[in-house]
Amino acid sequence: MTEPRIVTLATADHGDVTLPEPWWCAGHASHDPRTQHVDLIHSGPTRACTHRGATLLTAELVQSPFASLPDPHLGGPTPGVSISPLGETLDPTELYTLAADLDRFSDVLRDLADKLAAIRSENTE
Ligand SMILES: [Zn+2]
Repeated sequence: MTEPRIVTLATADHGDVTLPEPWWCAGHASHDPRTQHVDLIHSGPTRACTHRGATLLTAELVQSPFASLPDPHLGGPTPGVSISPLGETLDPTELYTLAADLDRFSDVLRDLADKLAAIRSENTE
């Protein structure tokens, strides 16, 4: 059995804080020691949907172990997936719903491509 990972992070209001490091956390290489204790956050690698160099959507696992936000969509001690530019942290059911919405939108894009191809072929005849 592997030892649980821990990490010690400097904070502005609580000094050095040692806490368990989830297996999915990408680490804290860019940690700012001016961070408040309540704002400590574990983040997984950012996954991005890009097109022609533009980022359309990003998703990353997040957990703020000391946050006590009234709305879980703003993050908190329960791990979630933060979606940008939605600006919300989603639970598994909400992620599946988002994936279904994106599937439907992919169908819309394919339908528009079919229509556009037809329109362009009309104009070349
Ligand atoms: Zn972490």
